[in-house]
Amino acid sequence: MTTLTRADWEQRAQQLKIEGRAFINGEYTDAASGETFDCLSPVDGRFLAKVASCDLADANRAVDNARAVFESGVWSRLAPAKRKATLIRFADLLRKNVEELALLETLDMGKPIGDSSSIDIPGAANAIHWTAEAIDKVYDEVAPTPHDQLGLVTREPVGVVGAIVPWNFPLLMACWKLGPALATGNSIVLKPSEKSPLTAIRIAQLAIEAGLPKGVLNVLPGYGHTVGKALALHMDVDTLVFTGSTKIAKQLMVYAGESNMKRVWLEAGGKSPNIVFADAPDLQAAAEAAASAIAFNQGEVCTAGSRLLVERSIKDQFLPMVVEALKAWKPGNPLDPATTVGALVDTQQMNTVLSYIDAGHQDGAKLLAGGKRILEETGGTYVEPTIFDGVTNAMKIAKEEIFGPVLSVITFDTAEEAVAIANDTPYGLAAGIWTADISKAHKTARAVRAGSVWVNQYDGGDMTAPFGGFKQSGNGRDKSLHALEKYTELKATWIKL
Ligand code: NAD
Repeated sequence: MTTLTRADWEQRAQQLKIEGRAFINGEYTDAASGETFDCLSPVDGRFLAKVASCDLADANRAVDNARAVFESGVWSRLAPAKRKATLIRFADLLRKNVEELALLETLDMGKPIGDSSSIDIPGAANAIHWTAEAIDKVYDEVAPTPHDQLGLVTREPVGVVGAIVPWNFPLLMACWKLGPALATGNSIVLKPSEKSPLTAIRIAQLAIEAGLPKGVLNVLPGYGHTVGKALALHMDVDTLVFTGSTKIAKQLMVYAGESNMKRVWLEAGGKSPNIVFADAPDLQAAAEAAASAIAFNQGEVCTAGSRLLVERSIKDQFLPMVVEALKAWKPGNPLDPATTVGALVDTQQMNTVLSYIDAGHQDGAKLLAGGKRILEETGGTYVEPTIFDGVTNAMKIAKEEIFGPVLSVITFDTAEEAVAIANDTPYGLAAGIWTADISKAHKTARAVRAGSVWVNQYDGGDMTAPFGGFKQSGNGRDKSLHALEKYTELKATWIKL
C-alpha cells in the first residue's frame, strides 16, 4: 500500500516525462506514418501524451525484427537458466519502478493508485518472476517406445508472438502474456489498448535494461482496426494471444483463418454468477464480497460478479447488507490513496455503462443504490456503483457484459435453478458459490460451466492457478504452467536405434 499522499502523487504526475513512441528493435521510434493520437486521462480529462499511432508498416517492421532475433538464437536458444536470470532482473526493475508505473496506470485508465501500486504493478512483476523461476524446472518427455526406438516429445518456442491486450489491467494482462512468451524463448510484438498504452511503452525500455536482447520485445501502440488487425493478419506471426472482448476475439479467429492459420489464444468477456445459498457460512462476508466483486476496478473486470444469484429465503436479510457494503465503494479521485473506486476508462465506456443503467430501468428492474454519473465537475468519468433488484436472466443487464459497476440481483429457489440460471449465458469465465454444505459446494462447482470457481470467497487464486474461460469466454489459459502450452509447439522426434 502506498504511503504517499494525493499531493505527493499530483506532484509526481506534474514531473512525469511520458514516453508515447513505439518501441521497435530496442529503440523508441515514431510511427512510420508520423501519426499520433492524444492520450487523455479519465481522472480529469488532462492531456497526458501524444502516442504513436502504429499501422501496417510498423507491424511489418516489428515482426521482421522479432523474426530476425528469434532466428539468431540469442534469446530463443539461450539456456533456460539464463533466460530466467534476465527475466527476474526485468521483474525486479518493474518493482523498482513501481511508483512511476502505478502512476502511469492510474492516470491512463483511472484506477485507484492504491490498487495500481499494490495489485497491478506487483502482480505484473510477479507474473514475470513466477514464470521465469519455473522455466528451468520444466522437463520434456521420453515416449514409452519399443526397445529399438527412442521417442522424444519436446516443446519448442513458437517463434513470433503477437499479443493484443485490453485496458482494464493494462500491465498485468500484458505480463500474463510476456512472462510465458519470453520464458519459453519467443520474440513478441505487444499491442496495448489505445485507451491505456503508457505502461507497456515504458516497460520495453526496462526489459532492455534487464538484458533482454533488442528486438525480442517490441511494443506497438495504436488502434485495433489498424495495427491490431495488421498483426492478426500478419503472415509471419506464429501465435496471437489476446485478452479483450468476445466480439474482437471472434474476429481474430477469422483473421487467423484468412491469413496463416496462426494459433489464436483468447481470453474474452464474462457475465459471472455469484451464487449465495441460504446456508452461506458468513452472510456478512458474502455481502462484502458481492460488493467488491462489482465495484473493484470500477467493475471493469472480466470476472466481475455481475449477476448476484440469491436464494429467496435470505433475500430480504441479505440485500440490505450488500447495499450497505457497497457504501465502502465510493468513486473519488484515483490519485487519492483513500479512493476505492476511480474513473471509468473514458467517456465512451461511461456512456455505455449509463446506457445499461437506462436499460435496467426500462426493463423494470428495481434500483436499490447508485445509478448516476457523479463528479462531472472534475472533468472525469465517474459512475456510482449501482445495484438492481428484480432482475431476470432475460433482461439486457443480466445478459450482456456491461464492464462497469452495475450489479443485477436474480432470485432463485433451488440449487438446480441456481445452476440453470448461472449457466444460461454464452460466457463461462468465473463463478462464486457461498454455502456451508460441502457436498452442495462441490456439486454446484462441478455443474457450473466456468474456468474459475470460487467457494466462500470471490476472486481467489494466484499465479499457481490457470485462468481462462469456458464457452465464449475464450480458450487456453493464462497463468500457471499451463500457460506455457500456448507459447510452444509440441514436437515428436522418433529415432530408430
Ligand atoms: P476490446 O476487445 O475492445 O479490445 C482489446 C484489444 O483488442 C485492444 O488492444 C484493441 O485495440 C484490440 N482490437 C480491437 N479491435 C481489433 C481488431 N479488429 N483487430 C485486432 N485488435 C483489435 O476489449 P477492451 O474493451 O479493451 O477490454 C474489455 C474486454 O476485455 C472485456 O470484454 C473483458 O471481459 C475482457 N477481459 C478479459 C479478460 C480475461 O482474462 N478473460 C481479462 C481482462 C479483460
